[in-house]
Formats: sequence, structure tokens, C-alpha cells
Amino acid sequence: MQPEHRDRLVQETLDKYTRYVNAGLAKLYRFANVMTVEWEASGAIIHDVHGKEYIDCSGGPAVFNVGHRHPKVIAAVKEQLDRMPMSVRAMPRKPEADLAELLAQITPGELQYTFFANSGTEANEGALKLARLATGRTEFVAAEGAFHGKTMGALSASGREKYKAPFQPLVPGFTHVSFGDLEAMARAVTDRTAAVILEPIQGENGVIVPPDGYLWGVRKICDQRGALLILDEVQTGLGRTGRMFACEHWGVVPDILTMAKALGGGVMPIGAFTGRPALWKALETNPYLHSSTFGGNPLACAAGIATIRVIQDERLVERAADLGTYLLQRLEALARRHPATVKQVRGKGLLVGVEFTDPDIVLLVTAEALQRGVIVFYSLNNPSTFRLAPPLVITRPQLDRAVEALEEAVAATEALLAEVPSEAQAPS
Ligand code: PMP
Repeated sequence: MQPEHRDRLVQETLDKYTRYVNAGLAKLYRFANVMTVEWEASGAIIHDVHGKEYIDCSGGPAVFNVGHRHPKVIAAVKEQLDRMPMSVRAMPRKPEADLAELLAQITPGELQYTFFANSGTEANEGALKLARLATGRTEFVAAEGAFHGKTMGALSASGREKYKAPFQPLVPGFTHVSFGDLEAMARAVTDRTAAVILEPIQGENGVIVPPDGYLWGVRKICDQRGALLILDEVQTGLGRTGRMFACEHWGVVPDILTMAKALGGGVMPIGAFTGRPALWKALETNPYLHSSTFGGNPLACAAGIATIRVIQDERLVERAADLGTYLLQRLEALARRHPATVKQVRGKGLLVGVEFTDPDIVLLVTAEALQRGVIVFYSLNNPSTFRLAPPLVITRPQLDRAVEALEEAVAATEALLAEVPSEAQAPS
């Protein structure tokens, strides 16, 4: 493609965003100087339409655990595509059965049955419905700052008012307590509680790791009150945090575990919830009580099977743990060199949050990093923090390059802020 064709393609794409997708989004891209479009990707690397290379440290977020376009996932999806991509649903489907079996094998404890959906929010929606059905109760306890998705039930479980207020009234019966506070949890869970829903590590809230003993304590409270525990591993699952599922860091088994994002190998959208056999009794009498046209479709399941095999064969869980320790150390050193702007670095495995002293700094650093060929993304429920969730196949030299570019981006932002007159920073 000629350079002038590329420029025109970028301009036209942004104009179409303005006219047909969302003018606000187009404005945001222009404001952040993102005058390009994504074009192709492989492993941990993305190229834009101009051929510029970026290291993907956002990972979608947490979608590309096996990297972009892993050849084994592509091959599995192509094989299915050439035979029968979608299902008539009148006959059982082998890919769905095989993936459900694999999930029973890799999820902890006696989690065994799986329902397939198409996204994270749908997985949580189904889990909430199942908890109501199985317990006959209608109330839920969730955490402040939580992110579970944006459909009505999952949004009701989420914990940031900004995204909820315009849509009130939401689903009734949800109480929110501070994440990590066991006493608050003990007070909130009653014999009317169908389930407690939590992320084992809060992702969109800026990578908040709970104190050791917290999830165990919640599990005990649930058991005492006859409530179920739903763990949302949509972001933390499938190796991301250095364990196949983050709950394994603390040896806690939920009654229902939800996942999505990485399960489709970065090739297909898919969501799922896996639960204890006893809970599925409620779905046995009418297997269509909860259903989805595309849930469990052959293409997505073929991607899921290949993805899990890649995670196992390439030992990506161990790799996430090792590289995560290294990344955390390097970012902690960076934070020590920039105490005025970087407040804290935290995380587990290759899910790391970098908290800045001000949300505006995050926007500036993110834009500066992009110019330097590194993609990071701020957390939806905590805009002072950006999150690194790179592909687990990222190499150490790529991580080194990314951290160096991030440090340059932080320094450039500090230089920019130093130039702003103090009256502009604090209008009276
Ligand atoms: N749960 C968690 C923990 C998430 O991080 C997200 C997405 N960021 C979701 C649910 C929603 O997933 P989706 O966007 O696929 O609906």
C-alpha cells in the first residue's frame, strides 16, 4: 500500500468512527494522538497500518495469553472452519463436549459441568442466574470496585457507580462491601444470600491483590450461611497470574468459576462458567432454561481446546509466574526512580498494575508509551492505574524493551508537566 493510501485509510476510519461508531471514541483517539489503525499481529507484537511495531503489554486486556495468532489455535479454528463452523444445535457437538471435559480437568476441586457463552459478562450473568436457581435465594454480595461486565445482572454486581448510575434501577438484591475486608463480608452475607461474587484479584480496579486468608475467609462465611461462592476469573484465569486459575494461589475452590477472554486464544470470542455437579441438577430438568444461540459453537470451542493445550504444552503458567516476578522487580525499580509520579506497582504473574499520582498522568504516559511502541491500557474502574497484561509468550528482551520505553514515557510526561504553568495545574 502506498503511504498516501495508508494516510487516507486512517483518516477515513477515524471519520467513520465519528459518523457511525461513536464520535466520543474518535475524539479520544485523536486527543491521544492515535492517528493510525491496528493492522496485523503475531505473538506479542502488533503492527499498525504504517508498519510501525508495538509491543503489546495490554494483551486485550488479558485476552492474548497464548499470544496473537498462535499457529496451533489458528490451525484448529481453520480445520473447524473448513468443516462446520457453526452448529444447527440439533445434534451434540464434539468440540463443546471435549472443551467441557478439558475444563473439568483444569479447574480446581470438584468443578465439573460447564455452560458456554460468548463473553465475560454473559458468563457472569449465567452464574448469577444459576446461583438463584440452585439456592432459591435472590440476594448477592459483591465487592466495591469490582468489574463483572456491563449487562444488567453483571453490572449490578459491579462496583463502580459511574457505570451504574445512568441505568438505575438495576437488578435488586446486590450489596457491596470493601474488597479484602472479611468483617464487612461476614456482616453482609445472610441466609438470604444466594452467592458472593468476587474476582480473586480485582483487574479493572487496578490489579488489587487481596490479603492472604481473605478468599479462605469468604469461602468459610459462604459455607456457614449456605451461600455459594462465584469467582470471576474472566481476567485472571488461564495462567495469567502464574497459576492456571488465580484462586489456586490460596487453595480456594469456588462453587462456580467464570472465565472468558483468554479462553478463545485471542482468535474467537467465548465465555464459560464451570460449577459443581450438584448445582447442575437444577438445570437438568430443563436444559434450555438457560441457553445461547452461539454459546458452545464449534469454532469457539475448537479455539478453546487448542488454547488450553498450548498453555499446557508451552508451560505458560510457569512462564507467567517467572516473567511476572521479573517484570514486577523492574517496575518497582522504575517506581523508586519516579516517586513524584508513580505511586505503587503491584500484581501477580503477568497481571501488573502501575498506579500513578493522578489519572491525567496515566493518560499522558499511555499516549507517550504508544508513541514509543508500547501498548498499555488504563483500568476501567481505577483510572489512576494502568495495567500490564502482556501475552504470556512475551520474551524477556521484549519485556526489557517495554519497561525501558515506559520509563522514557514517564520521564517525558514529567518533563511535560514541569512546563505547565502552576496556575494551569491548579485553577483558582
Ligand atoms: N469480569 C472481569 C473480571 C473482567 O475483567 C471483564 C472485562 N474486563 C468482564 C467480566 C467482562 O467481560 P466481557 O467484556 O467479555 O463481557
